[in-house]
Amino acid sequence: MSEDCIFCKIINGDFNTEFVYENDYAVVFNDINPKAPIHLLVVPKVHVESLNELEDKNLMGELIQTVKDATKKLGIKSYKTLINTGKDAGQEVFHLHIHILANKGEK
Ligand code: 5GP
Ligand code: ZN
Repeated sequence: MSEDCIFCKIINGDFNTEFVYENDYAVVFNDINPKAPIHLLVVPKVHVESLNELEDKNLMGELIQTVKDATKKLGIKSYKTLINTGKDAGQEVFHLHIHILANKGEK
């Protein structure tokens, strides 16, 4: 846990954020400022600043599995995934996360 990290605080339950899916490795919650009708964030429970700092290859496998399991549970069949890495690419929160973007009712 990083003291000044907003996602670590969310994982810690500080803001009572609803997790739409959770497993041993990650939580999934709605983006506060959605850029699509469905906009979820898959966030690992350990603090890793970005993909550039990720050393645990197994963790990325678990995060991709989490994308699959969460979308399946929520009935989302068609979606985009996105990882912003670095400020210039639009990363705002420096705790690794995968965006899931979808339209409602897509098949
Ligand atoms: P990035 O730009 O770092 O890839 O994405 C960060 C995302 O986190 C943004 O889409 C932003 O709307 C979302 N976000 C930032 N702060 C919060 C928050 O406190 N709660 C939630 N649910 N989402 C947040
Ligand atoms: Zn963090």
